[in-house]
Amino acid sequence: MYDFVIIGGGIIGMSTAMQLIATYPDARIAVLEKEPELAQHQTGHNSGVIHAGVYYTPGSLKARFCLAGNQATKVFCDRHGIRYSDCGKMLVATTPLEMERMRALWERTAANGLQREWLNAQQLQEREPNIVGLGGIFVPSSSIVSYREVTMAMARVFQQAGGEIFYQAEVQALHEHSQGVVVSTPQAEFSARYLVTCSGLMADRLVKMLGIEPGFMICPFRGEYFRLASQHNNIVNHLIYPIPDPAVPFLGVHLTRMIDGSVTVGPNAVLAWKREGYHKRDISWRDTLEMASYAGIRKLMYQNLSLGVGEMKNSLFKRGYLKLVQKYCPSLTEQDLWPYPAGVRAQAVSPEGKLIDDFLFVTTARTIHVCNAPSPAATSALPIGQHIVGKVQALLEKQPSSGANLRAAVTAV
Ligand SMILES: Cc1cc2nc3c(=O)[nH]c(=O)nc-3n(C[C@H](O)[C@H](O)[C@H](O)COP(=O)(O)OP(=O)(O)OC[C@H]3O[C@@H](n4cnc5c(N)ncnc54)[C@H](O)[C@@H]3O)c2cc1C
Repeated sequence: MYDFVIIGGGIIGMSTAMQLIATYPDARIAVLEKEPELAQHQTGHNSGVIHAGVYYTPGSLKARFCLAGNQATKVFCDRHGIRYSDCGKMLVATTPLEMERMRALWERTAANGLQREWLNAQQLQEREPNIVGLGGIFVPSSSIVSYREVTMAMARVFQQAGGEIFYQAEVQALHEHSQGVVVSTPQAEFSARYLVTCSGLMADRLVKMLGIEPGFMICPFRGEYFRLASQHNNIVNHLIYPIPDPAVPFLGVHLTRMIDGSVTVGPNAVLAWKREGYHKRDISWRDTLEMASYAGIRKLMYQNLSLGVGEMKNSLFKRGYLKLVQKYCPSLTEQDLWPYPAGVRAQAVSPEGKLIDDFLFVTTARTIHVCNAPSPAATSALPIGQHIVGKVQALLEKQPSSGANLRAAVTAV
């Protein structure tokens, strides 16, 4: 019998596992991951930005956890010898409308407690000779890292403390009863007192396995990138972001310095016909039919038809994609855009057709589910893990007899 089973070996699962075993050093804890390695999905296919927390609604979990996660991730990296770079982020306005939106973002960054600098066109040009714009905001605390490396380090800490990781262990059924949860994989059955699911693109399916209607569906959005030809590795000094439309803040391709020295362009956001579909032609009939039969996704598509078609067009035609980045980096040409692997975002959609904005958790007597953890969840993974440990403690307090053998300790990780 395990005290805790965690499903999902992405950064949220490993952060939770590491902090749970630090809090309950005597507990028996297992992580079940369906792939042969950790970080094979969102955690291993992202921009690698340690976000500062520019866009998020003040007071939301995203705003709070991102701010705390920015610091905590860097402390964790320092402690575990993981390289990161404090390259800072430059938000660039290229039109009068974007200047107006930039003013609103300036206020929001203040409300979110960020250090930042307002730059006019000339100051922007001095800092970024290859970028053109009417003005910019510089946010120094944005940094870059490999989240795969961070996840591996979390796994090492977890295993050194006695935690177990099972690979190729795809959870196919769950049964919650008064004493705990039975977790079934094709190879084995695991009994646990408590279950935490951190299953990213499969979050709603894990909740459904308990016979609960989750009240949302995961909609997969592929984020496609290009990499710049290596002679452009120094084309920018910072991360360069356009000023987003506040209605769709995650749209707008950026130039990202990666921790390996390369520069990526992207990502866009195209509806994927397969939850783990990393290529344009990937299609899963199960995933597609499920999406088509969910009113929320139909409404979302209908309400955002022109945006969706625009993203799709730019996905199919490199020239359209290039134009998005040429707005602020005019010297780039089609030949400069090289192939780079895509990622797929797990975004929860409500039955009303709204993208659920904040991080979302669902709890039952014996289970805790991470249901919506899109960007900046990699940055926020340490505070999210801490938040889940708090939820576990609350469940244990409700059923003190079932956790009698678990002594809480205070350990730094
Ligand atoms: C294109 C893109 C760019 C992004 N850029 C950034 C960024 O720059 N900064 C940032 O902070 N965030 C960014 N994000 C968001 C960030 O990557 C994710 O929020 C974060 O990685 C989520 O981690 P996770 O552990 O919840 O999910 P995942 O990494 O997807 O992990 C979930 C795990 O659960 C496993 N699993 C699922 N179902 C089962 C099952 N039935 N049995 C066993 N295992 C199962 C999966 O195999 C997977 O390993 C980006 C995301 C994308 C897609």
